[in-house]
Amino acid sequence: MYREFGRILKQEVDVPIILAGRMDNPELAEESIGTCCDIISYGRPLLADAEIATKIKEGRVEEIRPCLGCHEGCMGRIANATVSCAVNPACGRENIYGLTPALQKKKILVAGGGIAGMETARVCALRGHDVVLCEKSDHLGGNLIPGGVPHFKRYDLKLVDYYKRQMELQGVEVHLNTEVTADTAKSFQADIIVCASGSTPKQMTVNGELPVYTADEVLLGKQDASDQIVIIGGGLVGCETALWLAQQGKKVSVVEILPEILGEHGAMPHMNYYMLTDLLNYHKVDIYTDTKVLKTTSDGVVVETDGTQKVLPAKTVIASIGYKENNMLYEQLKDSEIPVYNIGDSRQVHNIMYAIWNAYELARGL
Ligand SMILES: Cc1cc2nc3c(=O)[nH]c(=O)nc-3n(C[C@H](O)[C@H](O)[C@H](O)COP(=O)(O)OP(=O)(O)OC[C@H]3O[C@@H](n4cnc5c(N)ncnc54)[C@H](O)[C@@H]3O)c2cc1C
Ligand code: SF4
Repeated sequence: MYREFGRILKQEVDVPIILAGRMDNPELAEESIGTCCDIISYGRPLLADAEIATKIKEGRVEEIRPCLGCHEGCMGRIANATVSCAVNPACGRENIYGLTPALQKKKILVAGGGIAGMETARVCALRGHDVVLCEKSDHLGGNLIPGGVPHFKRYDLKLVDYYKRQMELQGVEVHLNTEVTADTAKSFQADIIVCASGSTPKQMTVNGELPVYTADEVLLGKQDASDQIVIIGGGLVGCETALWLAQQGKKVSVVEILPEILGEHGAMPHMNYYMLTDLLNYHKVDIYTDTKVLKTTSDGVVVETDGTQKVLPAKTVIASIGYKENNMLYEQLKDSEIPVYNIGDSRQVHNIMYAIWNAYELARGL
């Protein structure tokens, strides 16, 4: 990120230059030494993976657990708790929260190949269990796949790559295109079943003339967004989708029924909050808070603020009003004769950190 500054500085000074700031791409880091700096400094990447330096040295780059830049586990909670890391639950408490070999080897069936399912599978396999992971779609990653579409979220996809590699390294038996159902679960003859079936977008019906898509449909390219868009819902997904579309040169408005977007100030780490709100402002995304959507017409979306109605011009309407737990499998299996657990978004819709921490906490004790 700061390479260009380093390059200029290197020509002006004759003392060693230490460069920091998202230098976790080892190729970029190596290329920078000598031209932009003399030393690379790692901060957050060391929280995400304390072995990053060794892994780079040994060419095991695919095994590096990437820092997401989310601040959820580190700077975002520094005022209330010790520093840890969203993708590395043991960070900051390694001595008391590490992994030990399983006392008895068991067969564990994990239903769902999102981040919660893959963290469960990784930890269980590492501890010596036999793990089978079934994913109903043709790919691993779950909600990180739409989540990682915007360029500024690319580290989410790197995290999926990290987990895919871990599945191979730890010998997890992965079955894609395999939905676990109440009927098929028994056929795996597992000792323990972990449901990690995630969440799905809440649907919204708006009366009127324009179709309403979900943010996931647009992010995944299943629906095209025109050059004039109204997004209903100013939570994290709505705002990030708005920014991603505005960065493509589209005119975007966000309508939020609450007084503030992003779940109000303080709901997410302040550095990410300010970065996102500043960028929305920079890309001229119009934000309408305390505003209710009434209907759509061929001209756009009719909204009401303080009793006054107006039309926001739009050809595409996206509803991003949250996600709901996909917990049907757990509900069907929970009274089985073997232990059945429910983790991640299918237990409670939250975020990457809670999905990983929840999975780690369960898997280290099985
Ligand atoms: C667009 C978007 C952006 C986001 N941005 C962020 C962010 O910036 N920061 C953040 O912290 N969080 C973010 N989140 C939330 C985060 O992605 C989720 O909290 C997290 O991915 C949940 O992981 P999970 O494994 O519990 O569930 P999911 O990711 O939903 O994975 C569940 C998996 O289970 C599979 N499955 C379901 N039923 C079955 C079955 N019966 N058998 C087999 N497989 C099954 C599904 O196909 C899916 O792959 C975002 C979410 C979205 C959608
Ligand atoms: S909590 Fe997020 S930003 Fe902080 S080190 Fe971990 S992944 Fe990086």
